[in-house]
Amino acid sequence: MEIKYCNQCGGSVSLATPIGDSHPRHICVQCGYVHYQNPKVVTGCLVYQGDKVLLCKRAIEPRLGMWTVPAGFMENGESTRDAAKRETMEESGAIVAMQDLFLVANLPHANQVYMLYLAELKDTGPHGPETSEVTLFGKDDLPWEEVGFYTVKYGLMRFFEDLDKGKFSLHEIDF
Ligand SMILES: [Zn+2]
Repeated sequence: MEIKYCNQCGGSVSLATPIGDSHPRHICVQCGYVHYQNPKVVTGCLVYQGDKVLLCKRAIEPRLGMWTVPAGFMENGESTRDAAKRETMEESGAIVAMQDLFLVANLPHANQVYMLYLAELKDTGPHGPETSEVTLFGKDDLPWEEVGFYTVKYGLMRFFEDLDKGKFSLHEIDF
């Protein structure tokens, strides 16, 4: 993201690599403040019941009308697990029993890290405004071509593979 002004004093910034640093940073020419930029963490749940997974149809951009798992950006002060559970509740209304971490996907080009937990569906409730529909799909009736994000599609493919094997394991991938 381009930074134009210092967020401490409003001065202008210039791009330079501080001594001993590995990356160029936006540094305030007035007060010297260094604006570090780091990846954001997206976390969510692969919610399942038996051999079906819960997907949300998106009511907002990006990927309006496409299917995805409940997930979103972590808030400050949260753990990844708590954030995944919160996003799941907000977007799908699902009450879940959280299980193991299932997928860590690095998206260096987007400056994001994507973390999905397995979670067993316990109950359902009203979903939030980001979602227009919540449905459980099996491998064969899942609308694979309408899954909105390749990270999610990758996670769903690994889920059904692991389900067939009878054992879930942690998957790590760099896109
Ligand atoms: Zn400044």
